[in-house]
Amino acid sequence: MADVVKEVLAANKKYAKDFGDKGKLAMPPARRFAILTCMDARLDPAQYAGLAEGDAHVIRNAGGRASDDAIRSLVISYKLLGTREWFVIHHTDCGMETFTDDIMRGLLAKSLETSKIGKGGWKDVGKGPGSTEGDYIDWLTIGNNAKSVVADVARIRNHPLVPKNIPIYGYIYDVKTGKLVEVKEATKVGKAGKKP
Ligand SMILES: [Zn+2]
Repeated sequence: MADVVKEVLAANKKYAKDFGDKGKLAMPPARRFAILTCMDARLDPAQYAGLAEGDAHVIRNAGGRASDDAIRSLVISYKLLGTREWFVIHHTDCGMETFTDDIMRGLLAKSLETSKIGKGGWKDVGKGPGSTEGDYIDWLTIGNNAKSVVADVARIRNHPLVPKNIPIYGYIYDVKTGKLVEVKEATKVGKAGKKP
């Protein structure tokens, strides 16, 4: 762990040295859009969507799901910081496709240590004790990628705090090719109306 801290601080030192004019950037995203995407370590929204510092909001969570907290961030993104277009981007081979609420709750009830995945699915190998607190969390797992994108775009589109004139686009990032593939049904559901 100490090694990771050292590596991060060394990288930051280098980054800050070449920071240039970035200290002058304005808080509102210059390109006026936001991306909601998965926290998966293989995804780098700055790279896959061509973002520089100051360009856009990137909201990340497990799955890139339209959770209450993701919606909180999106609402702040337009209401206070002026974004005008939103993307929901899930991806192939997402970890959220590998379990259900029941599986996650069962694993956590056994122990809090890292579980293992094998041919038979997830298995808890920790010593325990675990906790049943997981029973009270909706883990927002994914059964089907395209469907989860459509569902999340629809939830955001129909949210009472989201104005109708913000277009919401749905995409799946392919971890094998780096390509963004449009989920046409999601973009259709997320189409903007004329009035806010
Ligand atoms: Zn993922």
